[in-house]
Amino acid sequence: MARARIAIIGSGPAGLMAATAAVESQAEVHVFERRKGLGRKLLIAGSSGLNVSHDAPLEEFFRFYQERDPFSAKRLEPFLRDYPSERWLQFIRFLGHEVFVGTSRRWFVREMKASQLLLSWTRFLEKNGVRFYPDSELVDFTAVPHPTLQIQSSGKRPEAFSADAVVFACGGGSWEASPPSWPEIFRKKGLKVCDFSSSNVGYEVDFPEALIREAEGKPIKNCILKSRLGQKQGELVITRYGLEGTPVYFVGTPGEARIQLRPGLSAADFFSQLSRPLRENLSPLRRLKKLGGLSPAALALVFHGLPEPDRAAIHGDLKRLAQIVQDFPVHLQAPRPLEEAISSAGGLQWEELQPDLMLHKFPGFFAAGEMIDWDAPTGGFLIQASVALGYHAGKRASSRTN
Ligand SMILES: Cc1cc2nc3c(=O)[nH]c(=O)nc-3n(C[C@H](O)[C@H](O)[C@H](O)COP(=O)(O)OP(=O)(O)OC[C@H]3O[C@@H](n4cnc5c(N)ncnc54)[C@H](O)[C@@H]3O)c2cc1C
Repeated sequence: MARARIAIIGSGPAGLMAATAAVESQAEVHVFERRKGLGRKLLIAGSSGLNVSHDAPLEEFFRFYQERDPFSAKRLEPFLRDYPSERWLQFIRFLGHEVFVGTSRRWFVREMKASQLLLSWTRFLEKNGVRFYPDSELVDFTAVPHPTLQIQSSGKRPEAFSADAVVFACGGGSWEASPPSWPEIFRKKGLKVCDFSSSNVGYEVDFPEALIREAEGKPIKNCILKSRLGQKQGELVITRYGLEGTPVYFVGTPGEARIQLRPGLSAADFFSQLSRPLRENLSPLRRLKKLGGLSPAALALVFHGLPEPDRAAIHGDLKRLAQIVQDFPVHLQAPRPLEEAISSAGGLQWEELQPDLMLHKFPGFFAAGEMIDWDAPTGGFLIQASVALGYHAGKRASSRTN
């Protein structure tokens, strides 16, 4: 049988994994990337520790997706079953990288950065005959008489590239200076693409200037954020505009929220802890500093961020202060913009895809990764789903020859 000739658009985790699966299937593979460098978002994701997956057993693993986006979780499940974290981690090890589980149950690459992983992955693919075309943007495509792409490099006219099958792995809308062009190309062809919105993103909070001066960039360690979406434990970071960190990425939503600054203790237990007999006669605030076990940012939050009616408690009412610390009010105003979000919700609608990820309207064209309309929390779930989809699309694409 003739080797399938596969074109892949995008060099992120989904595109590289589609290329990997196509190589496994002996296909001839060409990867087009509109930027001058490959895998930009993977490199960015790795800038604060490359978290590639999560250690939850499969059923619990699915729940993270279900809680965030029940509709797309159902669609993602078969791909995650077929390409679960064990397979992805095994592949990373095969490329020569050590992985470990952090205390947050997240899988990390030992060197923490993505550059080495990206390098060994692209080298592996090149050794297996994959050709990369940076600075090559998809500007149009047709399916008839066979899949053909129009690819444009800076300052040049678009050129046609024909293949047996194509995998779109163009990514979502977050962390981009300008919106990606592919949604417009797709819409013009009658494909349904939902607008992108920020996901896994910080929130604006109108904190007083004194709090920002004292605590900007500092972590409120091990707290629980509660909102109408639920609650999440982790580290929040105070920023110039509000809050960042896993808890707000999970349960951030506009409106009132509460922070429990000492998880594991009821307000009554915490009051007992603060009431321990001491030789000195200390004010409630000084007791909180000495006995409360709070991080400096949490103390600053209590001291500067407390709404006026409760400020008196700092000086005179230890019981009330203990209650406030365990149920601290914050008003989450609005999510930060898409350019600052870790990921995006929205994208190509699932109804455009067959169960094997091929586009109904464009036979021979597949889609994978964050460009499809699904959402997931941070913690490795984004990359894991992107590679699982990429693997499947790469395999299916490779089974098509004209
Ligand atoms: C700050 C930050 C931190 C993150 N941290 C984590 C984390 O810790 N864990 C985790 O799981 N995920 C994390 N992510 C998310 C993760 O990086 C993405 O979910 C993942 O990269 C999506 O993979 P993808 O291949 O679908 O898309 P992308 O990685 O976005 O790749 C798509 C590629 O397609 C290219 N492209 C687009 N349009 C065209 C076109 N018309 N022609 C040619 N090429 C095109 C783009 O330039 C891009 O390189 C983070 C993201 C950010 C921004």
